[in-house]
Amino acid sequence: RLNRLAEFGTTIFAEMSALAARTGAINLGQGFPDTDGPEEVREAAVRALRDGRGNQYPPGPGVPELRTAIADHQRARYGLEYDPDTEVLVTAGATEAIAAALLALVEPGDEVIALEPYYDSYAACVAMAGGTRVPVTLRPHEGPRGGAADRRYVLDLDELRAAVSPRTRLILLNTPHNPTGTVLTPAELTAVAELAVERDLLVVTDEVYEHLVFDGAEHLPIATLPGMRDRTVTIGSAGKTYSFTGWKVGWTTASPELTATVRSAKQFLTYVSSGPFQYAVAEALRLPAAYYDGLRADLQAKRDLLSDGLAEAGFEVYRPQGTYFVTTDIRPLGEGDGFAFCRSLPERAGVVAIPNAVFYDHREAGAPFVRFAFCKRTDVLQEAVDRLKRLA
Ligand code: PMP
Ligand code: GLN
Repeated sequence: RLNRLAEFGTTIFAEMSALAARTGAINLGQGFPDTDGPEEVREAAVRALRDGRGNQYPPGPGVPELRTAIADHQRARYGLEYDPDTEVLVTAGATEAIAAALLALVEPGDEVIALEPYYDSYAACVAMAGGTRVPVTLRPHEGPRGGAADRRYVLDLDELRAAVSPRTRLILLNTPHNPTGTVLTPAELTAVAELAVERDLLVVTDEVYEHLVFDGAEHLPIATLPGMRDRTVTIGSAGKTYSFTGWKVGWTTASPELTATVRSAKQFLTYVSSGPFQYAVAEALRLPAAYYDGLRADLQAKRDLLSDGLAEAGFEVYRPQGTYFVTTDIRPLGEGDGFAFCRSLPERAGVVAIPNAVFYDHREAGAPFVRFAFCKRTDVLQEAVDRLKRLA
């Protein structure tokens, strides 16, 4: 008999990173930086290890220093007040936060609305919870000015409204959005919030790319909107913001009731994790504004290098407003199947990318789209672009 995860196979990130290792191709597939985060944060981790902080099981909800730093971050950036003792939960990366939130909040038969294309763990976690996923497809949209800068994926609010049923338990949001790079607008978020209030739904919002927004755009947490604070579980992660994806330190902020419920699942998944790294991330959260400005400026330049290069190589480019991914349409290259394209790309061009179709239930809607990561050194991106230009 098939188990409920059989349909998910091996995650595309493992498959594509293995392909990169096997072929020696440049890996613009799995999203991880090729340069580690700040030296002083690494030093903080070493100090914690050496001083014996966190080498034994930390407290279940996370070490108080980190919970306080997370609460301070939400207040300083967004004006959101959370009690570090009852409303903040530290998790093993955002991945565990997603799993714990869905396992805790979704009962068998409940429906979960997710924006498609969606990060691959969402579907697997909804399945593990016994829920049913209901995808609402973000649609590629050509802006009035045309061209890469104006092209984005948009949320069709009528489709979202039509997806809600009496069985809907929650809406799973992700902004800035992986893989499309879309940052949901205040109008889109307000519409989601109004719907959640009207239909009494919970919102779980994955905001791991909150600091990676470009062209002066602002990330707006849906928890700040009227009626949302106490029906929203907000998820963050140190992996993206501080370039330490291997540390696996994430968190949730939510009302005491929701936090206690998510914690009830988390305690049986990992109980706790990452002792010394929790202390280091508490220090990272106190980095000055200049750190975030530097991170954004660096990534924005890399976004432009890769987006312009891909456009010159013949791809139709969705220049992202956030995240470190560029989605492209491969049809101008005479291609239509992103899977086949990505499987042959190492041999044809020495580059690895991710087929967006894996992020869709409606695979045909994602078929001609391919995602490239730009959290890599400039010389690596330049070499990848040079190789891709020889494709045509
Ligand atoms: N959510 C999204 C949208 C992601 O892209 C990722 C990782 N790349 C995660 C969650 C997982 O984050 P973490 O590494 O903190 O588990
Ligand atoms: N989130 C990263 C991405 O989208 C990879 C995460 C993973 O390997 N599971 O590429």
